[in-house]
Amino acid sequence: MLTTQETTCIVCEELKEEGIHIFSNFICVECEQKMVSTETDDVQYQYFIHQLKHISLSYSE
Ligand SMILES: [Zn+2]
Repeated sequence: MLTTQETTCIVCEELKEEGIHIFSNFICVECEQKMVSTETDDVQYQYFIHQLKHISLSYSE
């Protein structure tokens, strides 16, 4: 039996069970797939980059 643990996604800031961990941060599968499929000139992509910068900032502390 799999145990599931909900973690707060740093992009959508919702509690999700499935996703990837980058350093000590968590991105849910939905946001991860959005990031992969988002064009670089998309406004949402800029938001993702902003959130990822937040990751590296918190990681360096
Ligand atoms: Zn998410």
